[in-house]
Amino acid sequence: MDCLFCKIAAGTIPVTRLYETDEVLAFPDINPQAPVHTLIIPKAHYASLAHTSPTETALLGSLLGAAVEVAKQQGLVNGYRVVINTGQDGGQTVEHLHLHLLGQRHMGWPPG
Ligand code: 5GP
Ligand code: ZN
Repeated sequence: MDCLFCKIAAGTIPVTRLYETDEVLAFPDINPQAPVHTLIIPKAHYASLAHTSPTETALLGSLLGAAVEVAKQQGLVNGYRVVINTGQDGGQTVEHLHLHLLGQRHMGWPPG
C-alpha cells in the first residue's frame, strides 16, 4: 500500500523510533509545531480516527497510553496537548491515523 506512515511503521522509511510496541509506534514530526512534536500511529493501517470502530478499544487505548509514555519520556511535566486531526475539515493531511503529542511550550485556545 502506498501509505507514508505504513512505510514508516514497516521501517522502509527510517525514523527515530521513540516508543514502540507490537501495535503502535511514536516518532518525531518532520515539521515540528512545538519543541516536542511527536506522532503516534497504529502499525496497522486506519485511514483516520473515523475509520476505527468503537469496539477497537484496545488499539485506541494503546494509542493514548503511548502518548502518556512518550510525554513522560520527553519530560513534559508541565503538560502537553494531544490532537487527532480527522478528515478534510479536521485538517488531516496524512491518511493514516495518528496522534500529535505537542509540548514544551504553552498552548492557548483557540489555536493560532
Ligand atoms: P495531519 O496534518 O495529517 O494531522 O498531520 C500530518 C503530520 O505528519 C504533519 O504534522 C507533518 O509534518 C507530518 N509528516 C508529514 N510527512 C512526514 C514524514 O515523512 N515524516 C515525519 N516524521 N512526519 C511527517
Ligand atoms: Zn497506512
